[in-house]
Amino acid sequence: MDKLSTLTVTELKGVGASLQLRLKKLGIETVQDLLFHLPLRYEDRTRIYPLSAVRHGQKVSVEGTIELADISFARRRTLSCIISEGNRTLECRFFHFSASQKNSMIRGKKMRCFGEVRLTRKGLQIVHPEYQIFESDNPPLLPDRLTPVYPTTEGMHQKRWQNLLSQALLLLKKYSIEDWLPEALLKEFNFPDLQQALYLLHAPGADISIAQFESGNSPCQLRLAFEELLAHQLSLKNIRKKIQKNKSIKLDPENKLSGQLKQALPFDLTSAQLRVINEIVTDMNQLKPMLRLVQGDVGSGKTLVAAFAAIQAIAAGYQVALMAPTEILAEQHALSFNQWLKPFAIPVAWLSGKLKSKQRNATEKAIANGDALMVVGTHALFQKSVIFKQLGLVIVDEQHRFGVHQRLALREKGGGENWVPHQLIMTATPIPRTLSMTAYADLDTSVIDELPPGRTPVKTAVVSDARRDEVIARVKEACSNGRQAYWVCTLIEESEVLQCQAAEVTAEYLQNQLPDIQVGLIHGRLKPEEKDSIMQQFKSAEIDLLVATTVIEVGVDVPNASLMIIENPERLGLSQLHQLRGRVGRGETVSHCVLLYHTPLSKNSKERLSIMRETTDGFKIAEKDLEIRGPGEVLGTKQTGIAEFRIADLLLHQQMIPSVNRWANKIIAEDSTASQALIKRWLGQSERYADV
Ligand code: ADP
Ligand code: MG
Repeated sequence: MDKLSTLTVTELKGVGASLQLRLKKLGIETVQDLLFHLPLRYEDRTRIYPLSAVRHGQKVSVEGTIELADISFARRRTLSCIISEGNRTLECRFFHFSASQKNSMIRGKKMRCFGEVRLTRKGLQIVHPEYQIFESDNPPLLPDRLTPVYPTTEGMHQKRWQNLLSQALLLLKKYSIEDWLPEALLKEFNFPDLQQALYLLHAPGADISIAQFESGNSPCQLRLAFEELLAHQLSLKNIRKKIQKNKSIKLDPENKLSGQLKQALPFDLTSAQLRVINEIVTDMNQLKPMLRLVQGDVGSGKTLVAAFAAIQAIAAGYQVALMAPTEILAEQHALSFNQWLKPFAIPVAWLSGKLKSKQRNATEKAIANGDALMVVGTHALFQKSVIFKQLGLVIVDEQHRFGVHQRLALREKGGGENWVPHQLIMTATPIPRTLSMTAYADLDTSVIDELPPGRTPVKTAVVSDARRDEVIARVKEACSNGRQAYWVCTLIEESEVLQCQAAEVTAEYLQNQLPDIQVGLIHGRLKPEEKDSIMQQFKSAEIDLLVATTVIEVGVDVPNASLMIIENPERLGLSQLHQLRGRVGRGETVSHCVLLYHTPLSKNSKERLSIMRETTDGFKIAEKDLEIRGPGEVLGTKQTGIAEFRIADLLLHQQMIPSVNRWANKIIAEDSTASQALIKRWLGQSERYADV
């Protein structure tokens, strides 16, 4: 038995009921939990830096003789204490201080300070250092280890963490800890054992360089990062295993409808589409539930792939639910599916939060009695009142907009007494492979890595908004030549109201500037009918220029639109820009995208935007985005679990993710005890998707 995993924190000195509760909130109940509360970073107090050697920005300990301590009242009441060493001086500044503090700073005594050194016009300075005052013949001991800095919550000081952890480390020595990583794994990567790794991370010797720790590449960090990533993947694969223990329904791929749909299309499916459809068809022809993620760049034709999946279920008499993250996108899917399914007299039911209750009740009834075979909607599909008669397939579009929770919730809607529906998940944000291996370890992945023929890559220009007039002239020219354009307004504020206002103002301005051109406006606050009608007018070219907020980011499809202006592109992530840009370049003519940035633009932003100019490959762009903005942003903020690793860093450690995946498969197949123990150790009670 793993003693430390059962020893509660109350066994430690100084942990009473209130601290116990506080720790519990952080998911720390046992000594083992505490040991896995890993430092965020380290501070080096093991050595004193000579004043002659410190540089601006360093966070270090320095020492000197107190020369002067004085209170001034310049802008704010300030205590300033000057210390000297040789011919150098350093000023310690305090804005919050007591009289006794000042009185203790006696000239001639020694002072040791720790803090971030700044080089100002007046010389070296530390604001609010931690300090000790002592007699020169009696200096306090220096710590012989780097000082860990722990993630913390209000009222929990670092000293407290350090105290708890040093007790925990003693217990670690006494009882040792079960190392769940297989011997062969440790050997393969030359990893230190767990006990040693934990010890080093919590109490690194002075001989360990902070720089190496900061790189995230010290052997003990690598080992724990590997273990954390492994636990995470095990947890997702565990969910998958549980889901796949359920039965699903075997859907015969040999149905007439699929063939007829193929025939009716005005184009051929791309070979990538055919391959992915085939993978789906095979999955759904099994007694276990499909769990498949389809990735494909914008415009690669994912919706149609989903339609073939839907038809396979419908042909067998089962219902299909398709969920999209926004109203506009859901509406558009409803339209596409309507068009595809019409020849078979299969009506498409539509469910959104904004439906009137009468319509809603009618639709819910049709869903409940099984009349509605194809149901398209937004989150509204989750609602308790929505009960399917026999849901055979769940399709989630633009998965990155939903959390894992939601993905699982829809599944619960489905199936019969002893079976669950198949699941197809589609994402338009191409995700770097390593990231998707981590975030979607519970899913099989298909990639549509080919665009339909005849698309010409969008040409992108990065233009300062000082040249707005030229850009407007360009819009005019395009529209006079029978083409259409988007003008996208962005704002950082989350506020939808402000976004919509900005778009309204822009639309008015552009209509004034371009009286001969029909300007339309679409944003999230319009009623569904209004949005629908605007989109229809844009599709039928009654509207030439569509001013929009980022609501059009996903899915909207109007092939005749060949110009897009994006205002303030510097405010958006690259993947989001890529999504937006994907709205053009869908027809025969060469399309253009103008990134109309607000001056001045930082060097960093300039670089970012130039990536958009250089490539239209969504996977490359996603990789850059991952580098620049991190996994949370690339996956969407809702995928929180991924962004909150304790030690693993998807960027720093991405090269080991394929190996993590390989070992996760092995461990889940061969050693469920280790798998459970690792999940528990790293995800604890927070293993939020555990009980499926
Ligand atoms: P996305 O993958 O971004 O969701 P869509 O499914 O919206 O892409 O498809 C984009 C457009 O391409 C749609 O107009 C769709 O009808 C069209 N399309 C899909 N597959 C093909 C194909 N094989 N050949 C030509 N056009 C296609
Ligand atoms: Mg799509």
